[in-house]
Amino acid sequence: TMSDPVVKIKAFIVTIPRDEPYLGALRPGEEPNAKGYFIRKKNRTVYPTVDRSVLLKMETKNGVVGWGETYGIVAPRATVALIEDLLADFVIGRDPMDREVIHDDLYDLMRVRGYNGGFYLDALAALDIALWDIAAKQANVSVAKLLGGQRHETVPAYISGLPKSTLKERVAFAADWAAKGFDSFKFAAPVADDGVVKEMTSLREALGGDVRIACDLHWVHTADQAVTLIRSLESQDLWFAEAPVRTEDIDGLAKVSRSVGTTIAAGEEWRTVFDAALRINKKACGIVQPEMGHTGITQFMRISRYAEAHHLEIIPHATIGVGIFLAASIQASAALSACSCHEFQHSIFKKNLRYLDTDMACENGQYSIPSGVGLGVTPDEEALKPLIS
Ligand code: MG
Repeated sequence: TMSDPVVKIKAFIVTIPRDEPYLGALRPGEEPNAKGYFIRKKNRTVYPTVDRSVLLKMETKNGVVGWGETYGIVAPRATVALIEDLLADFVIGRDPMDREVIHDDLYDLMRVRGYNGGFYLDALAALDIALWDIAAKQANVSVAKLLGGQRHETVPAYISGLPKSTLKERVAFAADWAAKGFDSFKFAAPVADDGVVKEMTSLREALGGDVRIACDLHWVHTADQAVTLIRSLESQDLWFAEAPVRTEDIDGLAKVSRSVGTTIAAGEEWRTVFDAALRINKKACGIVQPEMGHTGITQFMRISRYAEAHHLEIIPHATIGVGIFLAASIQASAALSACSCHEFQHSIFKKNLRYLDTDMACENGQYSIPSGVGLGVTPDEEALKPLIS
């Protein structure tokens, strides 16, 4: 058959105001600067006061439209510039059916200069997701089917973060979601102001023994500190401990993994299977958490296949976006037998559905797989217009 090449690519920034910052109210000393950025003191990480991502629209000669999305929470113009000033021209004229070859060609352009992660791979992710969306539409199938077939009818979801100012409110917040049919939760250690042990015991007491409770440690500990801390939570049946040590401390991560009874989860900051291999080869984690907004579909699947080949569990990360990379993540998750659960960003999911044409849902603790061809989700360009820059 004749190929239907890419003829047009446009990237833009979507900014959606939010009532309360991600991870909840700001603590003393966390005031936003003039550009709306603030630093969480406990994990030394910068966040915007708004929700923001980079959307990408791609069109073929025959008029097939595909959508991509990538990380845009900080300095999104850097990612847009990489796409528009450099990468788009090397995708135009190519056949979306060659999506993995295109990914590797773009990766090669900068690989020997050390651009093998960060913003460069984010830009690739947006292009990659749009190419997969188009290829699936050209084949008249869903992305899950194009990935080899849908293995799950639904994907279990866990409630991520309890963005309330006091422990009492956080426990009540979790109990509300439990009443709505969710049985899996994760709390963030940097905003557990009364300490992680108190947080964990309070949640366990309120939610009972049947729910799963995980803790995100946000990369701040040494291996020895993390081991002590995780052991202190184990009597409360900790589901998994996420990101216990600095991201560069691969030996430390492996040490924590072999020293505690709890499964260690990692992977949200990885971009490629090479990042995954460095950890997995050292048995540094038991749960792999690829983030579609960073990996795109091609690297998400390579990371996940590598994890599967090492008999690990896959529980994808879900960052803040409009819903395009989330739909891609759900499609890919549905195609992976080792995917047992998926993060759920309850603070944005429902409110952003108004900007999308999709039947994607997350109810009773389960994501439904968006139906239709491609990703099964299309932005409502009219609704998004006031949010685009
Ligand atoms: Mg995390």
